[in-house]
Amino acid sequence: MFKRLLPLVLMLLAGCAAKPEFQRPSLLQTQHQRTGVFFTTETRPLTVSPWDIRYQNIGYEQDPKLLNYLALFEQEIAKLPPAVLRLSGLDKVAFVRALSVGPQPRAAVPDYIHEVLYYDVDAPGDAYLRHVVHHEFYHMLEQQLYGSAYYKDPLWHSLNPDGFVYGNGGAYARDSSVSVFSHPHPGFVNGYAMSGLEEDKAEIWAIIWAQQSWQAVETLVEIDSILQAKIRLLTAQVQCQAPEMANTWPDYIQRYLAALPACEFVDTIHAAPAAVEGS
Ligand SMILES: [Zn+2]
Repeated sequence: MFKRLLPLVLMLLAGCAAKPEFQRPSLLQTQHQRTGVFFTTETRPLTVSPWDIRYQNIGYEQDPKLLNYLALFEQEIAKLPPAVLRLSGLDKVAFVRALSVGPQPRAAVPDYIHEVLYYDVDAPGDAYLRHVVHHEFYHMLEQQLYGSAYYKDPLWHSLNPDGFVYGNGGAYARDSSVSVFSHPHPGFVNGYAMSGLEEDKAEIWAIIWAQQSWQAVETLVEIDSILQAKIRLLTAQVQCQAPEMANTWPDYIQRYLAALPACEFVDTIHAAPAAVEGS
């Protein structure tokens, strides 16, 4: 009896521990060979994700939106050394459409439990897509570096203006106007960065790497010493963990990099008391 049930038991056990399974379209496999990250368009529904991630499969390798996204993703991710990709723990990148968390539409979702980044190929505007590529990637990196994508970094918080309190997180700041680079407050490029410490860091990472985003904020950074300090700290924190970054930062941010060796510089920043967030 047990012998007859064993295959079923094993199947059920495997199902409980299952990570999402992915098919491997050939076009996307070539990306895998280059970056070490597995790209896919087809996923089975996630059953163990802590989020209610919903999407539709693209299922067509020559889909123009997919080809466009793949091309720009390739360009953006190629800016990062393989050591940083490894450091992020990123395993899979899934290109889908009609992406949402519950009923809330999303241009991208980082599933840092399964190390999968989901991107919606129909999100509008190439400059925005390039920004989103880096923003979401940073969430994966933060989770790997500090054990939580929502780490309330006391060094980072020490750079904020006295008494500054973040909002309730990115999930509560979905109005598209908040992502406009409006410099609403010293030290913040947009309203989204003010919604949570983790979003602030991801936005700074994105302006460092997405060149059109940088061009949009460059003059703000020039006059804002807090933004400059955030760039200096974030680049030093990542470089301290991945020395390969030393020669890969874009030319246009060189003037904002720390003069000291990365880890030494991080040690000069004094932690602020625990960041208090809105409730
Ligand atoms: Zn985010």
